[in-house]
Amino acid sequence: LVVELNEIEANVYEIGRTGEMRVPARVYGSESLVEEMQSEGDRTLTQIQNVAMLPGIQKFSLVLPDGHQGDGFPIGGVAAVDADDGVISPGGIGGDINCGVRLLRTGLTYKDIVSEQSILADRLYQTIPTGAAEGGSLDTNISDVRGILEGGLEWMLANGHATKTDLDHCEENGHLPSDPNAVPTEALKRGVNQVGSLGRGNHFLEVQRVTDVYDTETAAAFGIDTDDVVVMIHTGSRGLGHQTYSHYLRAFERKYRSLAESLPDKKLVYAPLGDDLADEYWNAMNAAANFAWANRQALTQAVRKVFDDLFDTTEVELVYDVCHNMAKEERHTVDGETKTLLVHRKGATRAFPAGRPEIPEAYRSVGQPVFIPGSMGSHSYILVGGPQSLARSFGSTAHGAGRQLSRAEARTEYSAGELKKALRARGIFVRARSGRTLAEEAPGAYKDIDEVVRVSDALGIGTRVARTAPLANIKG
Ligand code: 5GP
Ligand code: MN
Ligand code: MN
Repeated sequence: LVVELNEIEANVYEIGRTGEMRVPARVYGSESLVEEMQSEGDRTLTQIQNVAMLPGIQKFSLVLPDGHQGDGFPIGGVAAVDADDGVISPGGIGGDINCGVRLLRTGLTYKDIVSEQSILADRLYQTIPTGAAEGGSLDTNISDVRGILEGGLEWMLANGHATKTDLDHCEENGHLPSDPNAVPTEALKRGVNQVGSLGRGNHFLEVQRVTDVYDTETAAAFGIDTDDVVVMIHTGSRGLGHQTYSHYLRAFERKYRSLAESLPDKKLVYAPLGDDLADEYWNAMNAAANFAWANRQALTQAVRKVFDDLFDTTEVELVYDVCHNMAKEERHTVDGETKTLLVHRKGATRAFPAGRPEIPEAYRSVGQPVFIPGSMGSHSYILVGGPQSLARSFGSTAHGAGRQLSRAEARTEYSAGELKKALRARGIFVRARSGRTLAEEAPGAYKDIDEVVRVSDALGIGTRVARTAPLANIKG
């Protein structure tokens, strides 16, 4: 059954309230992107209708142009609830708590590294732990991990693994108030050998060349120019985050059994804000977020070492670090009234416009940097929070191209060897631990990134600043 969508304006579709929906459901996408969400067997549109039933939800339940179905909630979704009488739902945040993307500039240009691309790929691959259980680039014991869960990048700074500028250029300065004791012991243990590790699959570390600049003023504010070499890092809170998520999902389902059973999907289970279990999860989620920032920071330190050894440069600097699996308390205006909301973003990037106090001083007059990766064979984008983002999307935009084929479909469609050869012929050096992963992450498994970003730009939620192309890619 095809879900009926009303086109409100270009790239904006809505599903009116029916049944137990408290607000309409909204879709941002072009015709072709929306068509994919409407295709047979795809549950994205059903899922946003389910999300619209959450107590305290404001304005609309939203799916962004990269959206696709997920567990309970879609990936590429935003659900903002009233902080006074709303709820928190672990499924609206996702298993990889504070998965996110950071971008480093290197001070080098394409011609500085072109003859060293292959060795650069090798060195990064040798230096950076990839795969499910390969250890982390930082030696940490259990008390270090506790310190990280509590302090995030503050701990990294105090222990010589970050600079003050690194903290300034990270969402929340890489630190949220948390309670390490809310993180289950089993999860904490998994963190011990995983600080500074990439993980599997969709996570990557990619050296890129800036190929196009669309907005020179903003690019200059971000310290970026055509032909610059930049490094994009995508990973999250690893086993620690996943274990925290599944622990709390089970705890929520146990405590709210009859609620969970009454919902169209158990994975939508939620707790009212202010409830003990909601508080406990909030503290655990923030602790896992601190861990994810420390993880991306440890990887940054490893990249700095490789670039110093190979190119004798100490100018690898953090442009910014964005989260795409988090819930955050933010001030928003709804129907002319300014209030505090809990904004769940699952596979969605915060994209605040110029002026918001959350943006680092260096960027506040231009807007928040946003990074949207495409795939190992396509462009990726640097955007800036757009002027319409607060009104249209609670200050959010897409987080990637979004999957078009399931992992299983991609495996039957693509072969790792051929992919690697084809990419190499295009000047892209890929090093992956697993051939299976490579096939699952084939460029063809993802939607058209240019189209996703075109919609974001056209709606003014995240506007184009620059585009990059891959040079070297490390994967699990
Ligand atoms: P997630 O896995 O967090 O849901 O999505 C991250 C996004 O990263 C995907 O939607 C996809 O567009 C993008 N992506 C996945 N693998 C790669 C890669 O190797 N390189 C780049 N540049 N992007 C990727
Ligand atoms: Mn992730
Ligand atoms: Mn991610």
